[in-house]
Amino acid sequence: MPIYGYECKKCGSTFQTLVRSGETPECPSCGAVELEQQLSLIASPAKGGEDSPPMCSPGPGGGCAGCPAMMG
Ligand SMILES: [Zn+2]
Repeated sequence: MPIYGYECKKCGSTFQTLVRSGETPECPSCGAVELEQQLSLIASPAKGGEDSPPMCSPGPGGGCAGCPAMMG
């Protein structure tokens, strides 16, 4: 699952959290949803990709144990 870093625009705290598509993270300190995503903190494994599973390294035999069912 992708881990994103955020900075709360309300209280200024920074945190990292798992974010599933369609979900909106909240500030763990004050509960605000007005957050600024910190792209610089964590390197994106798949730049330009939209649906590519992160951290997935399929071997020569295809697929990997860590791949979600979305792989097919
Ligand atoms: Zn906050």
